[in-house]
Amino acid sequence: MKIGFIGLGNMGGPMARNLAAGGYDVTGFDVAAPIPDGLTKAETAADAARNADVVITMLPDGGILRSVADQVIPAMTKGAVLLDCSTVDVESARAVADQASAAQIGALDAPVSGGIGGAEAGTLTFMVGGAEDAVTRAMPLFDIMGQKAVHCGPSGNGQAAKICNNMILGATMIATCEAFALADKLGLDRQSMFDVVSTSSGYSWTMNAYCPAPGVGPTSPADSGYTPGFAAELMLKDLRLSQQAAEAVDADTPMGQRAAELYEGFVENEGGQGKDFSAMLPRFEKRGRTS
Ligand code: NAD
Repeated sequence: MKIGFIGLGNMGGPMARNLAAGGYDVTGFDVAAPIPDGLTKAETAADAARNADVVITMLPDGGILRSVADQVIPAMTKGAVLLDCSTVDVESARAVADQASAAQIGALDAPVSGGIGGAEAGTLTFMVGGAEDAVTRAMPLFDIMGQKAVHCGPSGNGQAAKICNNMILGATMIATCEAFALADKLGLDRQSMFDVVSTSSGYSWTMNAYCPAPGVGPTSPADSGYTPGFAAELMLKDLRLSQQAAEAVDADTPMGQRAAELYEGFVENEGGQGKDFSAMLPRFEKRGRTS
């Protein structure tokens, strides 16, 4: 199987490298990033896509995905599959899938969770939207790049699953951090708080697996000065996508909306840029009810 890989940044680079190491013939293109070992370099996105059985994209946003799709779809062979692993808005994912299908090309939206560590280790989780036959054809690639692929339904549903998951994650992280900051002020030590909540009804992934309090719970970015992990600005991107989607379908998401506002303030005005998304805890620690 021949693969074209477009977007070789923090995530795409190691994903493409793993496919080449797995024995696939991978041709790569990026406007800026270097071409990883084991790939053949293409001069344009269309060149990377020509003659490929599967074209994978791992790009920053929906606008860039649409412009790359305009370049690659006309160059692709009929019957090939366009597999987008970027996190983008549901509307762009569905528009690109329609465009591909009009050109008799299969399309999958398959955003990932697992971050850069998961991309390097080949342990990503893929949330997949698109037709069953295209999913079946992409499955050997998911097996190399990840540990799990969940088929969530038709095109766009992979992105829908990703933003719903991350809306829960963002809101839960904020709730966990504000509860720790409240516990501090009430004189409840953090270890006791963790011991109770992690085995009580307030438990969550953010408390139990990714505790935002340094020295408490399993090792997490809090234990290394809040170096990401999952950067606050990426959480902000996903929360904004969730609110864009909620507006488009008239869904009431007040917690997601508030989480987006809080991460926006954190990233843009409160020093959160470049920090892990759990660094909301020191943010809450420093504040009172009005400041
Ligand atoms: P990145 O910025 O490191 O990589 C994106 C790459 O796309 C860059 O190398 C850039 O040069 C390239 N690019 C931009 N425009 C292009 C074009 N027109 N043609 C070809 N290449 C182009 O970003 P990343 O961290 O690798 O993230 C990629 C996607 O994965 C994003 O949608 C992000 O939201 C998602 N994601 C990232 C993480 C993470 O932890 N980094 C986790 C899950 C999902």
